[in-house]
Amino acid sequence: MSFDTLGLSAELLLAVREQGYTQPTPIQQKAIPLILQGKDVMAGAQTGTGKTAGFTLPLLQRLMETRTQQRGRPIRALVLTPTRELAIQVAESVEVYGRHLPLRSTVVYGGVKINPQIDRLRRGVDVLVATPGRLLDHAGQRTLDLSQVEILVLDEADRMLDMGFIHDIRKVLALLPKNESRQNLLFSATFSSEIKALADRLLNRPELIEVARRNTAAERVEQLVHPVDKHRKRELLSQMIGRGNWRQVLVFTRTKHGANRLADQLQQDGLSAAAIHGNKSQGARTRALSGFKNGDVRVLVATDIAARGLDIDQLPHVVNYELPNVPEDYVHRIGRTGRAGNAGEAISLVCVDELKLLRDIERVLSREIPKRVLAGYEPDTSIAPEPIQNGRRGRGDTRSPARGAPAAQRTGSSGRASAGRAPAGSAQRTGARGEPESGRRPAQEPAPQRAAAPKTRHAQPRRRPGDAQPNSRHRHPVGGRGREQAALLGGGRRRED
Ligand code: AMP
Repeated sequence: MSFDTLGLSAELLLAVREQGYTQPTPIQQKAIPLILQGKDVMAGAQTGTGKTAGFTLPLLQRLMETRTQQRGRPIRALVLTPTRELAIQVAESVEVYGRHLPLRSTVVYGGVKINPQIDRLRRGVDVLVATPGRLLDHAGQRTLDLSQVEILVLDEADRMLDMGFIHDIRKVLALLPKNESRQNLLFSATFSSEIKALADRLLNRPELIEVARRNTAAERVEQLVHPVDKHRKRELLSQMIGRGNWRQVLVFTRTKHGANRLADQLQQDGLSAAAIHGNKSQGARTRALSGFKNGDVRVLVATDIAARGLDIDQLPHVVNYELPNVPEDYVHRIGRTGRAGNAGEAISLVCVDELKLLRDIERVLSREIPKRVLAGYEPDTSIAPEPIQNGRRGRGDTRSPARGAPAAQRTGSSGRASAGRAPAGSAQRTGARGEPESGRRPAQEPAPQRAAAPKTRHAQPRRRPGDAQPNSRHRHPVGGRGREQAALLGGGRRRED
């Protein structure tokens, strides 16, 4: 199938050709004609499927078709995204696909000065891409008017709910014209009951499109687990990058501190590396990302919060240096590779502490991930598992917040109070250095309330990040629990020389 058959205008087809796209992806084939007909759409599509063009192209065309001689330049299309990075990328797509059209667009997100955004809004835009928190900041300051929005897009809606944006979304909806008088498009990688409830409220007789099964890892991604002791992961990673001559590898850690530390260590190993996470300024994040894209930075070490928004074409290697606490994050992480039909490779370095996380992930994937022990990195079967430091129990943490639970940090610069989401001035649950960054918490927005730290049943001494690992470990004799863990890892049986 070619793009020409979808009913797109010559200007949009030209922009698509300039991007080098020859064929619409499955989500584009399904979504574009429906959106052009003015239908509400609920689409199940993961990142990497081409969903952004799937809604942006027909959205731009609809705006052109329904253009009237309005006075001023009201915002006619609003795209809400959960993270800054995604907002920036969607806005770039709007620019690129709309470059031959007389439409204007801009993007607003937190963590940066609000005044330049106000200036751009004042000049008038047809399409606004926004993260919910900063959008409400603007609404509160009356620097934008959403009363004439004709098309609303909720991108990565599942992520928005996971990040606690439901109240913000409700507030934004209250600023828009009535449901029936606008076109509503909802994109989500998963269709949970919460998403369905949101869709029921938001969409009018929507067309349902699904191009990937729920929680299915991108099919062209080759997944592999290398069992390895925790204290040898970094050495193994450097070796894999060097030996394989990997030029561009995205590495995931669980914590911001862990990301910083690993990036520093890789630099010491002679690999150009940068860390990207929610504590970095927007400028630093943008620099790291562009360095990675243009090849100056060979290894980008990221936390989950960075995962959703990264759009890097044909990323060949993703490494889970640490498995995520939330299994679905694994799916999102590996979605960074094998994008838009390209083959990719996702390798997880798994130590004995992470076996439960691995099992949870395999349950979500409904299949086992192949395991391969590398020669020279055989796990020490006498090491007993320890609880994951700063771990989270999973989705329930954000969905059923405990009253008065401590809140995560607020990094937005607008000064908007975090009322309704977190008690002002509250401290982050897990301390300043080793705090998790699971991606459920927006980088630029006030954090949702979170449940109290999980209680561990084992009364282990609290270890601080950076404490020496191997010597502090309690060792089991081989043949005890250690052997059981080793068996689960495929311990030492299959190896790669
Ligand atoms: P998305 O899922 O929207 O994040 O898109 C993933 C990547 O696929 C982006 O880098 C797009 O530039 C690219 N892409 C989108 N549509 C197509 C297409 N029809 N053919 C090839 N690449 C595409």
